[in-house]
Amino acid sequence: MFCSGKMKLLLLLGALFVAVFAKETFEGDQVFRIDPRDEQQVTLLKDLLESDLDFWRDPVHESLPVDVRVPFESLQAVRAFLAYNQIPYHVMIENVQIYSFMDMLVSENKNMVSKIVIGQSYEKRPLNVLKFSTGANRPGIWIDTGIHSREWVTQASGIWFAKKIVKDYGRDPLLTSILNSYDIFLEIVTNPDGFAYTHSRDRMWRKTRKPNPGSSCVGVDPNRNWDAGFGGAGASSNPCSETYRGPSAHSEPEVKAIVDFVKSHSNFKAFVSIHSYSQMLLYPYGYTRTPAKDQAELHELARKAVTSLQSLYNTRYTYGSIITTIYQASGGTIDWTYEQGIKYSYTFELRDTGRYGFILPANQIVPTAEETWAALMTIMEHTKNNPY
Ligand SMILES: [Zn+2]
Repeated sequence: MFCSGKMKLLLLLGALFVAVFAKETFEGDQVFRIDPRDEQQVTLLKDLLESDLDFWRDPVHESLPVDVRVPFESLQAVRAFLAYNQIPYHVMIENVQIYSFMDMLVSENKNMVSKIVIGQSYEKRPLNVLKFSTGANRPGIWIDTGIHSREWVTQASGIWFAKKIVKDYGRDPLLTSILNSYDIFLEIVTNPDGFAYTHSRDRMWRKTRKPNPGSSCVGVDPNRNWDAGFGGAGASSNPCSETYRGPSAHSEPEVKAIVDFVKSHSNFKAFVSIHSYSQMLLYPYGYTRTPAKDQAELHELARKAVTSLQSLYNTRYTYGSIITTIYQASGGTIDWTYEQGIKYSYTFELRDTGRYGFILPANQIVPTAEETWAALMTIMEHTKNNPY
């Protein structure tokens, strides 16, 4: 309570120092626009020039805004500093690294990578899909991460996959052969409003951020919103529930954008939707106990994929249909894609089994991405070798 401004600043700088040396993850940096009210606040901000914050527009005068990129690890400290000194600001760019990462990847690999905007989130963020392609008119393989926003290791793994594809094409014979006959589509930030909210307000946010009329609770579970057994058991009709299915199938723009894209593309052969945590590889169905007609093949491929995954770090996965392995869930993504005729429809639940849960330590991001990629390669190879 009796902290002076100067002391607060020293504490902040200490936190920044620790943060810089602890930085291991890619994601979550934000750009703040700060509007100092008077010369005293400008002076306080000038003191921050000595820190490792990345100023895009330096503090000069109270009439001029200040833009600063704040590393993810320093967000709390900087927010506290600004609030303590009553300096007005707002978040101008959220998740700067993920979005700028995508644009950079595209510009550095124009012959292979393009960015497709398949729609807009409720809060009007672009729904970006990276397309990896080495020729025209090819069938597609879809991978999405982060549809549940708090499952941060999935978005981080998505970034790693994108870099891996670019790096391995022309070097790794298997990936090269896959990309010579299939396009890969990767949606990394599938629920951007929820993801922003996990950074700004509530690390544990799972759903979308669309308000529900007549309720003070916000958001829909985007993995209960698909038109496959929609409204059945294993989803809630209560807007305050974490598994709220929404008012109607495909009511969420984040879901509808994928539905429209998949239908207009009309030639996806594999569809993988990535979640955390539980260490499971799952295939349809979630809404019914009736086995999928390709159950035997899906089960055998899951076994192979899990074996590949385990070969790296001995991470043990269970596998099977959603309803027999985890629980009954209606309106799920891959039940819908399977019913659209996409045979190789899978969902992952990445690390861990609950020790850290959604707060998986950063030093597990790369190993998680690596082992998951091994399983994805097994699924993609099988897809390539078994055309239908
Ligand atoms: Zn999830």
